[in-house]
Amino acid sequence: MTSSDAIVIGGGHNGLVCAALLARAGRKVTVLEAGSETGGAARSEEFSPGFRVSSIAHVLNRLHPDVVASLDLEKHGLQTLVGGGMPSVALSEKGEPLTLRGAYGEVLVGASASEQAAWQELRAQLFRYAGILKPMLSRRPPDLNGMALGETLALGQVALALKRLGKEDMRDFLRVILMNVADLLDEQLEDDRLKGLLAFDATLGSHLGPRSPTSLLGLYYRLAGEAGGLPGAQMMPKGGMGSVVAAIGSAAGAAGVSIRADTVVDKILVENGRAVGVELAGGEQLRAATIVSAINPATTFLDLVGPRELDTGFVRKVSHIRMKGDAAKLHLALDRPPEFLGVDAAGHRGRLVIAPSPNHVERAFNPSKYGEFSPEPVMEITLPSLADSSLAPDGACVLSAVVQYAPYALREGWTKGKPKFQKAILAQLEKFAPGIGKTIRHAELLTPADIEARYRMPGGHWHHGELQADQMLMSRPVFGADGYDTPIAGLYLCGAGSHPGGGVSGAPGLNAARRIIAMKG
Ligand SMILES: Cc1cc2nc3c(=O)[nH]c(=O)nc-3n(C[C@H](O)[C@H](O)[C@H](O)COP(=O)(O)OP(=O)(O)OC[C@H]3O[C@@H](n4cnc5c(N)ncnc54)[C@H](O)[C@@H]3O)c2cc1C
Repeated sequence: MTSSDAIVIGGGHNGLVCAALLARAGRKVTVLEAGSETGGAARSEEFSPGFRVSSIAHVLNRLHPDVVASLDLEKHGLQTLVGGGMPSVALSEKGEPLTLRGAYGEVLVGASASEQAAWQELRAQLFRYAGILKPMLSRRPPDLNGMALGETLALGQVALALKRLGKEDMRDFLRVILMNVADLLDEQLEDDRLKGLLAFDATLGSHLGPRSPTSLLGLYYRLAGEAGGLPGAQMMPKGGMGSVVAAIGSAAGAAGVSIRADTVVDKILVENGRAVGVELAGGEQLRAATIVSAINPATTFLDLVGPRELDTGFVRKVSHIRMKGDAAKLHLALDRPPEFLGVDAAGHRGRLVIAPSPNHVERAFNPSKYGEFSPEPVMEITLPSLADSSLAPDGACVLSAVVQYAPYALREGWTKGKPKFQKAILAQLEKFAPGIGKTIRHAELLTPADIEARYRMPGGHWHHGELQADQMLMSRPVFGADGYDTPIAGLYLCGAGSHPGGGVSGAPGLNAARRIIAMKG
């Protein structure tokens, strides 16, 4: 039966953004979400009695301004950025941390005067170069089969921005673009703490070490994001990432989107090469002229559509998308707030990073190439209950950490490996916050395999597919399904696996909605 103009499969934040924009454009839209609530990897949940946390994504640094504006998210309860956002603290075992304050280090505290000067120069250059790539985030990647006027103009904008850099900067931009981050940092900086932090940020969420070719691209992707209009800024939303999803969900509801939770889509129905509806796990069928998949591209094509409907070459490309995650998530319910060595009260409310040097990050990465976890992992820690007391009982504290490297396909298997990895993480934490171990009431560690099972993210991958040069732009997720269209008429993609990639940005959802509206799909 036809009950909607469009069905969106998956109620993660991208699915909700796309649904809300389609509904605002006059479509009757239904979102089908497998979980009991929407938000996907951007939910907030209770992980121990009285302790709540952003279950996977915990730092907001790239929600696209066009998403915020076009859905009036501030009116729907999106919290705005306070000051320059939260600081980043590069922790040190010796109790001498280094702090980046303001939007990604306008002010650097704890480094020598010469390092501060070198950082200001590098910071300005990084933002200039990230700014070149920024217009691409909110557009379709160029269509090699023939560009529409809008796409040609967008590319023209990038070329113009490049030209505006001037000859010397343009040459340097082209020199560094595919470099590894460690080499660039070694060229310009001295302080291992600062270099370690930047190396960590460049490789977060990917299967790359700082010395892997092209690892600098990850830093540009990070810095092309913004919060509250400030490039590179970051915040922990009050109530956790779930409050961002609640604002998007409220905008979707106000636009008339209907959401069905606890509804697993098993099949995309295809007739004569055209998507005509979906079949749910219980066998119920729903029909619509437009089907939008906000879930992983490989699941979409290989499981829901099925290889019989697709060209063999296309199936091969899809089955080769690299998407084995390396990032784990740790949640600790603590009796009291921990004290990280040398960190002040403002720093404890920031993003605390254990990545003492690029070499340390590289050494942490090495074992993951062979299916082993890092014995001395690197991590990004937040203490969200310090800024939002509703997240923990009185006097107690929540610790949330993204920890690398934890290969999805651990050679010994995660049943055996998980307790050992947890021990390694806690030992690492103890070095930087002595005594923390004694205050742990409850610990929850989610490996990529857990993330896959709980959030239906294949490989537990941050971006639903590696965000590396060969899986970007018109090769994202693969050539033939780039730009949100697919080989199946009436079927579109709109999740993190599509351009420009993952993170809580809403950009794939935004761009896909624009495409579908333009196609009158
Ligand atoms: C460890 C880790 C830490 C991260 N930290 C951050 C961070 O701090 N900041 C940040 O910006 N990003 C972070 N990310 C990345 C971010 O979480 C994701 O890129 C983002 O949530 C992807 O959003 P999405 O809407 O595209 O997909 P998802 O959030 O994966 O949503 C997809 C939805 O589809 C549903 N679904 C799947 N299959 C079906 C089906 N068959 N039928 C119906 N529904 C289905 C799922 O249940 C889910 O709700 C992190 C990722 C990881 C793995």
